[in-house]
Amino acid sequence: QGALYVVPTPIGNLEDITYRALNILRSADLIAAEDTRNTKKLLNHFDISIPLISYHEHNKLARGEQLLERIEKGELIALVSDAGMPAISDPGFEIVQAAIEMDQKVVVLPGANAALCGLVGSGLPSEEFYFYGFLPRKKKAKMEELDRLKRLKATLLFYESPYRIKDTLKAIQEQFGTRRIAIARELTKRFEEFVRGTTEELITWAEENELRGEFVIVVEGESESSEDPVESDWWDDLTILEHVD
Ligand code: SAM
Repeated sequence: QGALYVVPTPIGNLEDITYRALNILRSADLIAAEDTRNTKKLLNHFDISIPLISYHEHNKLARGEQLLERIEKGELIALVSDAGMPAISDPGFEIVQAAIEMDQKVVVLPGANAALCGLVGSGLPSEEFYFYGFLPRKKKAKMEELDRLKRLKATLLFYESPYRIKDTLKAIQEQFGTRRIAIARELTKRFEEFVRGTTEELITWAEENELRGEFVIVVEGESESSEDPVESDWWDDLTILEHVD
């Protein structure tokens, strides 16, 4: 029986590939990769020589159909992206959906993912979280999306490029006001760091430092204390308490 294996790859540190991921990559008939040159380097490092084919944003529909035909014929296809979990801010969702619709076997391997590392290392509540990924680049659309998210109580997770991190922090400040934020930079790599502080503190940090590498922005959800004090129940309770005192 054929199958689609979704295989996460490291987000920096090559030791983060799993034994199982290596076994699947070694036994696949074909590896579908977001960027075949990138994946070739990874495969070379682990001495794997399985044929590669591209599967990316611009060919995903036509290529997806071809891959599914091969799976129907009994082939094992491994899907990888440039880094981390395929289908998470990366190509992959459409082929998984199509494989399920065609009753083909889909197996997802666990593995590296920047958002979850960022969330857990941020120290912000991890019980409930909302993964957004990349905000729109255009200011108006970005503000609209943030407006939509600002009442969520869940911790918010964003991916951002070093070129836009300052603007995005400012947009978060404009829409959310002061919140606790953590920025996870270069996770699993040599210069991995977490910067934690209020929105304003992180804007200052972004203005004073050269921003290189890859970033996850983790933002505290709306909390009782950040609600408008006049409108919130929390404020009413506090007033009553003050009376009693
Ligand atoms: N599929 C990937 C995953 O599972 O995390 C995400 C791919 S997305 C195209 C790339 C973005 O993920 C980067 O712009 C950055 O925001 C985040 N990212 C990837 N690797 C990272 C790392 N080592 N440290 C911090 N953020 C990272």
